[in-house]
Amino acid sequence: MKIVVCVKQVPDSAANLVAENGVASWGDAPLVINPWDEYAVEAALNMGGDVTVVSMGDENAKEALKHALAMGCQEAILVSDPALANVDTQGAAKALAAAIEKIGDVKMAFFGRQAIDGDAGITPAQTARVLGWPALTFTASIAVDGDSVKVERSVEEGRQTVSANLPAVFSIVKDYGEPRYPSFMGIRKASKAEIPLWGLTDLGIEAPASVVEWPELNNPPAKDVSVEIIEGGSPTEIAEKLADKIMAEKIL
Ligand SMILES: Cc1cc2nc3c(=O)[nH]c(=O)nc-3n(C[C@H](O)[C@H](O)[C@H](O)COP(=O)(O)OP(=O)(O)OC[C@H]3O[C@@H](n4cnc5c(N)ncnc54)[C@H](O)[C@@H]3O)c2cc1C
Repeated sequence: MKIVVCVKQVPDSAANLVAENGVASWGDAPLVINPWDEYAVEAALNMGGDVTVVSMGDENAKEALKHALAMGCQEAILVSDPALANVDTQGAAKALAAAIEKIGDVKMAFFGRQAIDGDAGITPAQTARVLGWPALTFTASIAVDGDSVKVERSVEEGRQTVSANLPAVFSIVKDYGEPRYPSFMGIRKASKAEIPLWGLTDLGIEAPASVVEWPELNNPPAKDVSVEIIEGGSPTEIAEKLADKIMAEKIL
């Protein structure tokens, strides 16, 4: 069974995001595979088929692909084209769907639930829409039976069981289970991997037009914060003073 997993290269979660001249900047923070996408790789590998990992981005995205190869994916493809540099989620979905179609005969396409930089969380559903496949989002467990699949969705109220026919798109949540660490052999294999680059011409699509524009990007307004250290002769005295302050400020 052919399986695809889509991963994004993002700034490390500890990075400090600031808006500079209307553009998001993470400074020189290291780039890593989107943490949610490691769960998607884990789910893809557990299906037991041939897993191809796909990322859309610039040359840096090869590091995310290599991480997934080191975890155990067999093949990696970088989707990259100057015309895809600033696309919106619909554009990303069109490019990823075209890559999935070009790989051919794919039965399952895995995604993380959300990218920690863009935070849209809709690329999986939009890719499913472009492909005309069912979107099984927030998936925490998967049972395949022939050409049908049953998943448990992890939602706020609990678990919801849904079923669909393959091929289908899945977005995977943390409840799926801890992703494996890259193995030593995997890291060696990944370091030598030749990763093909597919541009728009290879994908056979036009440059996608954005339907959602980002006209402005601002830092949140600075908060007026003052700090008061409560002194006292004993922990009880400090706690009492703190409790009085909390009551006086009507926090409780
Ligand atoms: C310079 C710049 C300008 C931008 N301008 C706009 C704009 O004008 N309008 C707008 O709407 N957005 C804009 N974006 C955001 C961009 O469209 C999103 O980063 C992208 O579409 C995916 O959305 P997301 O990151 O929120 O992913 P989500 O929807 O949160 O991602 C969910 C999952 O989809 C998969 N996925 C997402 N992106 C990729 C990828 N690149 N490769 C492989 N898998 C992926 C991953 O599995 C991920 O876990 C801009 C981004 C940049 C860097």
